[in-house]
Amino acid sequence: MEIKKSACPYDCPDCCGLLVYTEGDEVIKVKGDPSHSYTRGTLCPKMARYERTVHSPARLTTPLKRVGPKGSGEFAPISWDTAIEAIANQWKTIIDTYGAEAILPYSYAGTMGTIQYSAGHSFFYQLGATSLDRTICAPAKGRGYRDVMGGTLPTAPQEAGNSDLILLWSISMLATDIHFRHDVELARQNGAKVWCIDTYETPTARYADHFVSVKPGTDGALALGIMHILNRKGLIDTAFIEQHVQGWEALRDQILPRYTPAAVSSITEVPVVAIEELALAYGRARTPFIRLGSGQSRYGNGAMTSRLITCLPAIVGAYAHVGGGLLTSASGSHAFDKSIIRRPEKEKNGVRHINMIKLGQALTDEKLTPPIKSLYVYSSNPACTAPEQALVEQGLLRDDLFTVVHERFMTDTARYADIILPATTSLEHDDIYYSYGHYTVQRGAAAIPPIGQSKSNWQVFSLLAQAMGIDEDFFAQTEAELIEKFIASTATAWPLPIDKEKLASGEPVDLPMPADYKLAFQTPSGKIEIKNPAITPPLPDYCLPHYAHDAEEFLLINAPDPRILDSSFNERPELTRGHIMELRMHPDDAARLNLCDGDTVEASNAQGSAQFTLMLSTRTAPGRVVSEGIWWNTLTKTGNTNQLTHARTTDKDNGSTFYDVKVNIRKI
Ligand code: SF4
Repeated sequence: MEIKKSACPYDCPDCCGLLVYTEGDEVIKVKGDPSHSYTRGTLCPKMARYERTVHSPARLTTPLKRVGPKGSGEFAPISWDTAIEAIANQWKTIIDTYGAEAILPYSYAGTMGTIQYSAGHSFFYQLGATSLDRTICAPAKGRGYRDVMGGTLPTAPQEAGNSDLILLWSISMLATDIHFRHDVELARQNGAKVWCIDTYETPTARYADHFVSVKPGTDGALALGIMHILNRKGLIDTAFIEQHVQGWEALRDQILPRYTPAAVSSITEVPVVAIEELALAYGRARTPFIRLGSGQSRYGNGAMTSRLITCLPAIVGAYAHVGGGLLTSASGSHAFDKSIIRRPEKEKNGVRHINMIKLGQALTDEKLTPPIKSLYVYSSNPACTAPEQALVEQGLLRDDLFTVVHERFMTDTARYADIILPATTSLEHDDIYYSYGHYTVQRGAAAIPPIGQSKSNWQVFSLLAQAMGIDEDFFAQTEAELIEKFIASTATAWPLPIDKEKLASGEPVDLPMPADYKLAFQTPSGKIEIKNPAITPPLPDYCLPHYAHDAEEFLLINAPDPRILDSSFNERPELTRGHIMELRMHPDDAARLNLCDGDTVEASNAQGSAQFTLMLSTRTAPGRVVSEGIWWNTLTKTGNTNQLTHARTTDKDNGSTFYDVKVNIRKI
């Protein structure tokens, strides 16, 4: 048996170090790598049995051509040569007739590997295809942080181990950032208290010492209420503010007077006493650490909410102390020069952009010129994960849409394909990984040969480039050659030297952090910019989410389920077995609507409808209903929660607003 090192490729902040046990061409087991300084040898249950994904009998192993009606899932095997030739011929005809913008790539974070995530960017730029704006996750969170902190590196998660108060804000740590718990426990052993702010009582909320249940989309008002109390109680760090903060006085005098505890309570549904307790605990802590999740940013006011929360550590001087600070998303991606593979300079001037959130509209808009005549999907499953699911399905059913899907399994999207190409898992190709939850990077080499005839994203784009006559020298590079370039790029991309030999060997490598990184504010003023004169509005203030204008009765919280990750792992029967589309509702609401535990109910709004099994629970507040997990539609009766989500975008940077949803509920 051999043991090879790799990293988890999935869309998760932990990017765990893996030990891959192989015998010949087979992965026998996967364990956590104890030498990884953040994930320290443990994995979540999904990846602890990754060999079941890799060697699943459901893997797609040959290219397939549709032989039945669209969406029927009827396919017949074809060769790679035939598949690539068919795609190239279709695309050449489409380009001749409609122009290259009639082709739309669609991809996201099915793999977070630096090469495979970005493998198609340059190809589609050079083809002249419509460019995809990949903003489906949480760009508004990053934008809100940058509006205050500029390019300052967010605080490393390991600092939390030295904190005396950890605030888990809008993050289901026990589902989506499980290794942070280690640092939280270290802090707890030294007496730290753990607070959790979320929209319903998650397992993380139960784990915390204190839970604050906030009305969805109102976290920004809560941050203002905390600042109001900190100011009133004299719990601000005036010396730190004088030296490092710009615009506190303007916020204090012009904005905060309106955010009294009573006013904030009426916006957020947090009792006044709870707001006071939270503010006093935060203000009296010497080294408070905020771990900020993405949920709070997936509303129409998401960037502003993140901006307001980002102001909190500034006014208490948290950055001045070891253990204090704010982690939004770690900037480990800065270690590599991603332009090596993305080549943004190859994008044609003025080419059309379409936001991936609005896929359903793009595929069904009869006035779009040129129309989308071909869709190429890789590392993504939009029929399951995109909002406006009914529109997406309607578009994918178009007979005149030539759809190619590069996938490992027969996903909801693959079922609509004209041609399916079999994809490798991360253990069958080379890549290099960074995390958005910590500052460790790692190379991952293929541990086994590809299963069946599967190929990596990069290998397929190399074939397509050849078939389309595009920049064949660039695409002739191997993944190993690209990795060498990424490792070399760390010399200029990261501020301190990185151990390149260790990185090339496959060991996890901690990015060295500049000694003063928490106080070296990378903003135009060199200070934390609570007032940022370069943006509108210069001072942050609470604004309403989209749903404020919607008429439906209940706020729908669609939260993660730890058994799956986005749409990944739905292929594993042992993980999805027994799942039902549950909708949690407070017993008072159920009594008012004459509903009982176990009833089949329909949630509906202008977007569509979906069926759920009702579960009465005091873990959600009245007026809020909760569904967990994005399940493959083939595992549901009437589609998943994306039947109900909107394609409306955030206040800045066009992020998704998956949680900014209202629905009506009725028994069926
Ligand atoms: S999904 Fe997340 S927690 Fe699970 S192994 Fe991958 S990185 Fe680690």
